[in-house]
Amino acid sequence: VTVPIWIALLHHPVLNREGRVVTTAVTNLDLHDIARAARTFGATGYFAVTPIARQRELIDRIVEHWVHGHGAERVPERAEAMRLLATVATLEEAIAAVSERAGAPPWTVATCARPGRATVSFSEVRRRLGDGRPLVLLLGTGWGLADTALAAAEDVLEPISAPGSGYNHLSVRSAAAILLDRLLVPSRGES
Ligand code: SAM
Repeated sequence: VTVPIWIALLHHPVLNREGRVVTTAVTNLDLHDIARAARTFGATGYFAVTPIARQRELIDRIVEHWVHGHGAERVPERAEAMRLLATVATLEEAIAAVSERAGAPPWTVATCARPGRATVSFSEVRRRLGDGRPLVLLLGTGWGLADTALAAAEDVLEPISAPGSGYNHLSVRSAAAILLDRLLVPSRGES
């Protein structure tokens, strides 16, 4: 059973170390690890979003290798995860694809480690997931989603935070798994 939740990993517009808006190159580990987390938690799909056509072609070749090529022969269960991965040039294309597939325009929720921008909590998203409206969770690369990406989303999810640790620099791969677990696995004590 899959939940109407899609992950969109944005390579643009994201920030670089200096806080400038850039386009990042695709990281192979982001493709595998986030696809495996998406498949593990029953997400419906995973979009790698990049405006660079050569990068989309590269991702498509990687997916082909792991879904139909030698990768699938060697590690069959990886094919199941990589099959979720699709490439699009823009977030708008991902939203259009989900609208088409789910028959309803998705709720877009951006994620961010920086406090002070959240407009929706984990429990609120968990509750609204029950309404069946498709959800697209926006993840960033580089140093995080640019303001324009955060503004393009309907809501911003409260950061994953370990109170009191004074440090919050998760990789997008780690964040993806934690976010999916918190959103899709009823926490102990909750119905
Ligand atoms: N180069 C790093 C890497 O390898 O992943 C980049 C980290 S990436 C900018 C951080 C992204 O992971 C954010 O855009 C967000 O999607 C997610 N993320 C990281 N820490 C988070 C947190 N504490 N709460 C929510 N999302 C977080």
